[in-house]
Amino acid sequence: MDLSRWLAAAAAANAEWAESYGPFEPHPALAVDDERFAAAFGRLTERLTDNYPFFHPRYAGQMLKPPHPAAVVGYLTAMLINPNNHALDGGPATAAMEREVVGQLATMFGYDTHLGHLTTSGTIANLEALYVARELHPGKGIAYSTEAHYTHGRMCRVLGVAGHAVPVDDRGRMDLDALEALLRREDIGTVVLTAGTTGLGAIEPVHEALALRERYGVRIHVDAAYGGFFTLLAGDLGIPAEPWRAVARADSIVVDPHKHGLQPYGCGAVLFQDPAVGRFYLHDSPYTYFTSEELHLGEISLECSRAGASAAGLWLTFQLLPPTADGLGRVLAAGRRAALRWAELIEESDRLRLFQPPELDIVAYFAGDSLAGIDEASNRIMHAGMTDADDPVFLSTLRVGAERFARRHPKVTGGADGARILRSVLMKPEAETYVENLHRRIERLATQSIG
Ligand SMILES: *Cc1c(COP(=O)(O)O)cnc(C)c1O
Repeated sequence: MDLSRWLAAAAAANAEWAESYGPFEPHPALAVDDERFAAAFGRLTERLTDNYPFFHPRYAGQMLKPPHPAAVVGYLTAMLINPNNHALDGGPATAAMEREVVGQLATMFGYDTHLGHLTTSGTIANLEALYVARELHPGKGIAYSTEAHYTHGRMCRVLGVAGHAVPVDDRGRMDLDALEALLRREDIGTVVLTAGTTGLGAIEPVHEALALRERYGVRIHVDAAYGGFFTLLAGDLGIPAEPWRAVARADSIVVDPHKHGLQPYGCGAVLFQDPAVGRFYLHDSPYTYFTSEELHLGEISLECSRAGASAAGLWLTFQLLPPTADGLGRVLAAGRRAALRWAELIEESDRLRLFQPPELDIVAYFAGDSLAGIDEASNRIMHAGMTDADDPVFLSTLRVGAERFARRHPKVTGGADGARILRSVLMKPEAETYVENLHRRIERLATQSIG
């Protein structure tokens, strides 16, 4: 699709709709002439060149990529109206779209019943899930693994709940024996399992943790902010089916459409299996709801104002690339195949070593033999790659403690209490045809960096 054409169509559709309300006098205080605009716009585009090329497969660093053009057009078209999805009065159309896309997400995870909404981010979505968890189990703690997103610990402090970090196994997944020991020892109300850890993309054993829910009466929350859409590939391309099938039985789920759902930032989602938890959101605002007795999204969310445009962007994207195996699943499958191929290339390499086999589309690797040497090499490779004007490559690093390292690579020791390794999130489907270049480029940088 031609982005310029559809951006113009968005402006035209908005103008046509606006005209139907009749003319009025624009206020001179808001007037900006094209010449001044052009100058300011020039300064903006100039400043924006100070960015990394997130769109290009040479950028193989953090979880960053531009939204799909359909998301851009959907977002912009709605943004010209600027609905607020807090209340039906703030934007009936986008509130309806939000209900539809949330329903599609619930279906994707296999929920039969649900209550849910979009949020500004995965952090806020998890906060909502933990807030409901606290209301249901007041005074009890929340457990998550040491590889869980750092915001779980932070939000436990915000909520005044004791947070407990559970050790992980040698693939970076919650150790369920350690969890069970904690459940026996402490008063825990909720366990957070991460389906796709942010660092390594490890999928924690949701299916096995469910047995503990019955035994210890805990809630199970699945943080799938990053990994959630990989449920579309469950049982395929080496992605195990059991944990994803089990997600359907979790009490709550978080997924971020602004990570793997092709959306711009400002789009997370939280889903609850039991719609009755809506009662914890009751409030009595004298000014927000007036046109309808129907449930407003603001009555089931902690946030007040939220961009209706986010719902429109996701809705339009799902019309074209629905959250199904042959829709969005094809996009994720390409990144997954790229990760598998790269892992093979690294295994054959005498320069680079795989930190652990990729479980999703994140590849973690290193060069060097000792912790100190690996740390130094990661730093040099990343900087040399980013600053090469002719053939740049953009990577990210992940810090790994000595013990965590030794569990995977017993011979790697010495010189430091840990090391930075290299980490590439292959979240663009274009990585599939580019991965051999990426590999060769990084092998060359490794040769230059460590001689
Ligand atoms: C990214 C991420 C979060 C935080 O989400 P934001 O949208 O960045 O606020 C939480 N959990 C996991 C597993 C994540 O990958």
